[in-house]
Order: sequence, then structure tokens, then C-alpha cells
Amino acid sequence: MTSLHYGLTPSALAARLLDVIHDSIIPLTTAGVSRGCKVFGAAILSKSTLSVVVAATNDELTSPLFHGEVTTLLEFHKLNSSLPVQERIDPRDCVFVSTHEPCSLCLSAITWSGFDNFYYLFTYEDTRKTFAIPHDINILQQVFQTHKEDPDDAPLYNATNDFWSSWSIAQLITQSQEPQQSQLQKHMQDVKAEYNALSDQYQQSKATQAPSQIPLN
Ligand SMILES: [Zn+2]
Repeated sequence: MTSLHYGLTPSALAARLLDVIHDSIIPLTTAGVSRGCKVFGAAILSKSTLSVVVAATNDELTSPLFHGEVTTLLEFHKLNSSLPVQERIDPRDCVFVSTHEPCSLCLSAITWSGFDNFYYLFTYEDTRKTFAIPHDINILQQVFQTHKEDPDDAPLYNATNDFWSSWSIAQLITQSQEPQQSQLQKHMQDVKAEYNALSDQYQQSKATQAPSQIPLN
């Protein structure tokens, strides 16, 4: 039986998340990449309406800690702290979507911020192979000794735990029925292609600069 997410079918949620990435995150990431920042971005949505509460993108020029997920969380906290206490948004009433599977820093930041879910477009393997950024996997293996022997044999973190559950958009699409499944696969590939073009732009801009001693994403 296909499980619902906040009353939505996996196909309905996948379609909305792809639209949010395309409409709300890619424009921010396009501007960020043109400034020399990485392609990673994120957004926080209301579970009840799936409207965007905040969206943001990587800002590594300001700080190597400002990953797309972190800048999005900071925007959320800034918004929330500006609201009267009784109007503040509970993270448990929100959906967290990230363009890329969150790294160890962002997994912790999402957890500490109190979200009970996250979804992502590109996996760690995509990030390593397509984006030439292997640090997510390297840090988990080297610092946390996560499945150091065979990273392909087991997940690098606990995708469902006491704090949250997480899914790739590809997993949502796999759970979808036809004809939506084929339509969503096409939609996902189109969105991924836009990111791949932005990544090429980022890598070219980095190729003209001196290599960093501490390669972080
Ligand atoms: Zn991160």
C-alpha cells in the first residue's frame, strides 16, 4: 500500500517539490552561482498548503558553513523570531526540501531545528559523480566512520529515526502510479538538467581560481 505524505499521494508531493525547486530555488541558485557560490539550495513549505515559507541557496562566499540548507534554516529562524510568539511556525508543521541530500552538517542542523522530515532531489552519489563534490561521503566515512568498508553496501545515515524521516524525490516517484510516474520522471530529469548546467558554470568558475586547501560544500 502506498503511504500518504500529509494527505498527499507520493506523485502529488513529488510534483509539488519539483515545482518548488524549479520556481523558487533555481532562480536563487542561479544568482548564487553567478556570484561564485555552489549549486545547493533548499526551501521550507507549510505541510497544510505546501506554500513556500522560505527558500535560500548556498552562500559559501560569506562562510563555508552557509550551505543551502543552513541559509534556509537561518531565514526560517529570522522570520520566526520576528513573529509574535503565538504566531510562530512550528517546524513540525513544515516540509523541508533540499536540492541535494543533506551533508552531515545539514543533517544535524535540520535535526537541531526540529523538523521531522526532509526530501531531496540529488543523492550523495549524484553529488559525487555529477557535481564532482565528494565531501558528503568523505566526511561521513572519515569523521563518523560510517560504513567505511563498503559505502555502497549500506546507507551512510539512518534515513528514518526518532527525529525525522527522509525520502529522495526519486523514491516518491517510484511509489507513484502510471501515467504520473513516467511524467514525473521526465519532469525530474528536466529539473536535474537545469542544475547540471549550473554546476558546469560553477566548476568552470572554480577552475579559474586557486584550489582551496579545505574543500567543503
Ligand atoms: Zn550541507
